[in-house]
Amino acid sequence: RRIQIALDGPAGSGKSTVARRVAKALGCDYIDTGAMYRAIALKFIETGLFQKLDAAASSLTPALEAEIDHLLDTSQLELFTEKVILDGRDVSEAIRTQEVTRRVSQVAAMSPVRRHLVKMQRGQAQGRSVVMDGRDIGTVVLPETPYKFFLTASLEERARRRFLEFEAKGFEADFETILKDIEHRDKVDSSREDSPLVMAADAVRIDTTGKTIDQVVTAICEAVEA
Ligand code: C5P
Repeated sequence: RRIQIALDGPAGSGKSTVARRVAKALGCDYIDTGAMYRAIALKFIETGLFQKLDAAASSLTPALEAEIDHLLDTSQLELFTEKVILDGRDVSEAIRTQEVTRRVSQVAAMSPVRRHLVKMQRGQAQGRSVVMDGRDIGTVVLPETPYKFFLTASLEERARRRFLEFEAKGFEADFETILKDIEHRDKVDSSREDSPLVMAADAVRIDTTGKTIDQVVTAICEAVEA
């Protein structure tokens, strides 16, 4: 049978780790929709679009809108479980930098960007068993699926996880900065007009604070297989 699982929640709630493991356990493909927004943010950075937006005080002039449309139309985005290819180049690492992380929510708040990526995401899910991780999967991308989960954790816990992740990768990390970044990103993601980060009315909320990854994965797999 075809299984489509929507996994939403704020930054650092454990979504991507849990999503990968659930996908593996249930034989589904894993689709990281955040990586797609990150890739577009990277492109905004590399093409200098941010500077133009900043100069325009972020109000979208028709010329800028046309430029964004063109950028979306011409971007070649390919998503694999372990890598992201943008215009033929492996950007899996480049989309995880602090600069992209700091800028991505601004890009994700733009309706043309969301329209474009949501369409891609629906296309990718078509006829396949998938676990999709994001912010609007249960509300917008896969509203019909019966399997929706919303992961949460306290802000401190989420910042702590990110901090440990950075340390493990040998990156320089400062706990306070990470906490502030996450807090800021959640605020922008929750308050944008287009598809804000909210729990779907029919989603199951799972607070992962103090829970192990195994416990969360098991809870989701049991709910789906019940
Ligand atoms: O999941 P991740 O933290 O990589 O997502 C990066 C950003 O992409 C989020 O902070 C949010 O602004 C945006 N996003 C979104 N909708 C999704 C997935 C991600 O707006 N479905």
